Amino acid sequence: MIVDVLLAYFPSDEEPSSDVEGVGEDRGFGGIPASTDAVKELAVVKYERGGDVREESCIICFGEFDEGVEVTRMPCKHAFHGGCLTRWLESSHVCPLCRHAIPASADP
Ligand SMILES: [Zn+2]
Ligand SMILES: [Zn+2]
Repeated sequence: MIVDVLLAYFPSDEEPSSDVEGVGEDRGFGGIPASTDAVKELAVVKYERGGDVREESCIICFGEFDEGVEVTRMPCKHAFHGGCLTRWLESSHVCPLCRHAIPASADP
């Protein structure tokens, strides 16, 4: 199920001709892990119905947020279960909902 989601969000449309140019920021929606520092800086907030968090469920596991549960927020304000988001960011540095990118791992 997760694999289907990944494929849907990250179609492989890479240009084989592109050389090393502008690597790091905008390019690479395909499977670059997020920097661990960036992951650590993500905000953890309590989910409250009618509160700040717009989502009612985690799109990664499709589980609804329970009242009072801690969720982790991307800079784009999308919220996910902390564990789900951490796992997601180990394989991708973009928001699963809107593709907002956070700093990617510097490792090759
Ligand atoms: Zn989840
Ligand atoms: Zn987002």
